[in-house]
Amino acid sequence: MRKENPITAWLRMQTGLGSGLTPESLAQWQRERIRAVREYAGSHCRFYEKERDFTTPEDLREDPEAFLCVLPKEIARIITLRTSGSQGNPKRVFFTAEDLEATADFFTPGMALMTKPGQCVAVFMGGSGEYTIGGLLKKALAKNQVECQVHGLIRDFEAAGKAAGGADCLVGIPGQLLRLSRLRPDLRPGAVLLSGDYVPESVCRELKTVWETEVFHHWGMTETGYGGAVECGAHAGAHLRHGDLYLEIVDPKTGKLVPAGSYGELVLTTFARRGMPLIRYRTGDIGRLLTGPCGCGDLLPRLDKVMGRRENLIFLPDGDVISIHLLDEVLYPCPRIRDFSVSMTPDYLFQFQILGEAADLDEIRGELLLRWPHLSFRLERTKELPSLGNGKRKISRMETSME
Ligand SMILES: [Zn+2]
Repeated sequence: MRKENPITAWLRMQTGLGSGLTPESLAQWQRERIRAVREYAGSHCRFYEKERDFTTPEDLREDPEAFLCVLPKEIARIITLRTSGSQGNPKRVFFTAEDLEATADFFTPGMALMTKPGQCVAVFMGGSGEYTIGGLLKKALAKNQVECQVHGLIRDFEAAGKAAGGADCLVGIPGQLLRLSRLRPDLRPGAVLLSGDYVPESVCRELKTVWETEVFHHWGMTETGYGGAVECGAHAGAHLRHGDLYLEIVDPKTGKLVPAGSYGELVLTTFARRGMPLIRYRTGDIGRLLTGPCGCGDLLPRLDKVMGRRENLIFLPDGDVISIHLLDEVLYPCPRIRDFSVSMTPDYLFQFQILGEAADLDEIRGELLLRWPHLSFRLERTKELPSLGNGKRKISRMETSME
């Protein structure tokens, strides 16, 4: 018999549901946890004294201390998040030691999906210290008898190449590991774990080809306590920390829940965080939940690949999404395309200007329809693209329909 996904096995224990763990029993268990965290937060911190529909990043910026549910001396780590270019206070997130231990508890089964006892992992993400991503991974992997070397974000790629040499698994952010693969195509990590708000498919493909490796996605953010969800070897959505986190998917404009399976903004509730629980926190990340069994046998909802930040996406009437980044993924791999620009009419007709004399427009349209079968695409060749005003590419919106 196939071995059970270690995350599923861990959730059986963590929730106490054991062999009775099903999507339905989990949902019931989670409803009770939501009630409990509302009660705890409502009686331990200022912010949740009154009922609120949502918690926003602005709330975290304005008065982070209002979320504090324990005495300041019980806080083991404060993470300060500055958004580049934005005015005002940074976001601050507080954790007790046990809040972060809970993340390590998730990393243990999570990393067992891609490593075996006796192997070695090289981590090219933030920090030394017990309660950083690196420190927590190290702690988690020690329980699996896996060695872990934490190198932090890559500044010196030559040195990183040397450090990655003997590792069975590399952990890092997409752009940095892509650059490392171009410098050191000879590396052969058995597995690569990518974390980031958007993991470009083109990066995954290149890493798989160049390093002949298996690429896993992880989704998480500081507000989830770093860890959030990770793919298994079936690569059909990421397995969530269902015992610690609850995700709802809402329409970013109206705040209403979207129909099952549709894209929307991920809204986060933490169950067991003592320092700074978050209730219905608007993450700004766009994604959707997958239901139905995973290839590994797990039956619980999974998080599909996160599509990035809400400000970059256009929501389509069928629940799907489109963005310039998603179009890049489809168009840039097509041979003979040098560049393109695109505009959209109010009735979702997409008009492309393609730079590249020998580009095969029918082939490109075919690729687009494979990804978005319900949309209309019109393509024409051009000798010159409109210049970019502020340097940022995007799908431009036309005021009127084409016909
Ligand atoms: Zn799975």
